[in-house]
Amino acid sequence: MKFNDLFVALNFQKISCSKEQLNRLETFMNVTLETNEKFNLTAITNPDDFVEKMIYDSALALYDLDLENKSIIDVGTGAGFPGMVIKILRPNANVTLLDSTAKKINHLLEFAKQQNIKVEGIANRAEDYAKNNREKFDYATARAVSQLNILLELIVPMLKVGGSFIALKGQGYEEEINASKEALRRLNCRIGQIYEFELPESHEKRAIIHIVKDKETNKKYPRQYTDIKRQPL
Ligand code: SAH
Repeated sequence: MKFNDLFVALNFQKISCSKEQLNRLETFMNVTLETNEKFNLTAITNPDDFVEKMIYDSALALYDLDLENKSIIDVGTGAGFPGMVIKILRPNANVTLLDSTAKKINHLLEFAKQQNIKVEGIANRAEDYAKNNREKFDYATARAVSQLNILLELIVPMLKVGGSFIALKGQGYEEEINASKEALRRLNCRIGQIYEFELPESHEKRAIIHIVKDKETNKKYPRQYTDIKRQPL
């Protein structure tokens, strides 16, 4: 997708976007691709692929989502996807970017400072951060971090009751949901809306899954990462 086609593609999905925000997204893309030559941030380096598979793909998280004055944490944000894209498109959202790699968070905070973008950056593992930041966020996102049942244990404890985890998934998401039945039950949450998309040029399938937290999370979650990995819920 050409950068110039992004506005129409977003509009088609009823994801609003101003000229100024588009300029910011373009700067973010250029800075990410330049920095990528110094240290590895993203595997996708072709600009047209980047627009479709990183920026447009991340923006799909905003489909049918009102973030006005809401708090949202992007877990395993990497180079800022979808978190920084969300912040650029929805500046009134209170966005926290979390990743276990400090270098990635430092890069994002530097970009934010240069652009006068106000985001919180946390260099920590999700399961460690979640222990002391329970029931704190209205929303959480994660893209390409882990399978759904594992993500649920890392993320749901950080959500307020009534908040939602917006999972960005690809083909095969139904199996991930099926494998998450026990995790959903133990973590007092449920699948809400599921929105399916197809990327306009590569025709790859995507799904945005809203997972709603109904009740407070038992303090025993999240467990240590080794336990989560060894014996997922
Ligand atoms: N969301 C980004 C990056 C995906 S790569 C994108 O879609 O492009 C996965 C990222 O998750 C890596 O940057 C890795 O450091 C981070 N990560 C993996 N497990 C994590 C954990 N338990 N806590 C915090 N970050 C984690």
